[in-house]
Amino acid sequence: MSYSPYLLKGQKALVTGASSGIGEAIARNLALCGAAVVVNYHSEGEEAQKIVDDIKANNGEAFAVQADVSQEDQVKEMFRQTFQQFGTIDILVNNAGLQKDAPFVDMSLNQWNTVIGVNLTGQFLCAREAAKEFLRRGVRPQISSAAGKIICISSVHEIIPWAGHVNYAASKGGINMMMQSIAQELAPHKIRVNSIAPGAIKTPINKSAWDTPQAEAKLLQLIPAKRVGDVEDIAKAAVWLASDDSDYVNGTTLFVDGGMTLYPGFTDNG
Ligand code: NAD
Repeated sequence: MSYSPYLLKGQKALVTGASSGIGEAIARNLALCGAAVVVNYHSEGEEAQKIVDDIKANNGEAFAVQADVSQEDQVKEMFRQTFQQFGTIDILVNNAGLQKDAPFVDMSLNQWNTVIGVNLTGQFLCAREAAKEFLRRGVRPQISSAAGKIICISSVHEIIPWAGHVNYAASKGGINMMMQSIAQELAPHKIRVNSIAPGAIKTPINKSAWDTPQAEAKLLQLIPAKRVGDVEDIAKAAVWLASDDSDYVNGTTLFVDGGMTLYPGFTDNG
């Protein structure tokens, strides 16, 4: 995609879980469009620093911050560092997420709490800190027509039930109502809150679902477009939602899934 380096010029973005996969691609693409980017990571410090170095080598602005998004004190400290280095924030991408899979009756409370803690509570904590700053600062018309943008990375499993993954599906279903409720509350302040629901995208989180020809063939049965998604598919959607090109889009989920949510089992008459 050919981006304009002016699309997000002057804007400051924070991407959680940006040391790999979808978060990495979003961080790199926001930077290509002129945004200064905070690359949040949990445990992959070297990978995060490499992304920062690449962005800087490309005349961009970035720095890495370690924080566990499920921990309130660490989230507050991450935003403190963001404001110290960048002064403010315009774009939050709530991307960090994980899976702890188990059959329902075997799922431990720890597996449940860990996934809800990172995937849902983590998004709440980061969105709250970003929204406080958007409200404090308000709109700067020369930068963006919005006071701020929040993009929640959800999943097709915000609507598709997923046996063996009840914690994950519940966390993503929760993101939908959280996103819409925040959007409803903050829209009068010119804050836009939207979600992207990826289908199957090739990243470390789901490697076993696509890393052999057999696994990929099985996965493709669920995808009418007959291709597994790429991180760039999600990053392009995130750039659009972060830009003023989507100024009238608020409180919605953009499914980027090659049609996975189209009930592909009914393609041949069900
Ligand atoms: P990934 O494993 O590469 O990325 C997840 C990132 O979150 C990692 O960088 C990880 O270090 C980080 N992370 C985990 N726990 C964290 C914590 N406590 N604090 C901060 N960061 C933490 O996988 P991905 O596919 O890039 O996942 C990114 C998002 O996309 C997740 O929310 C995931 O649920 C969602 N998603 C992915 C797919 C897919 O097919 N890959 C589909 C739907 C939704």
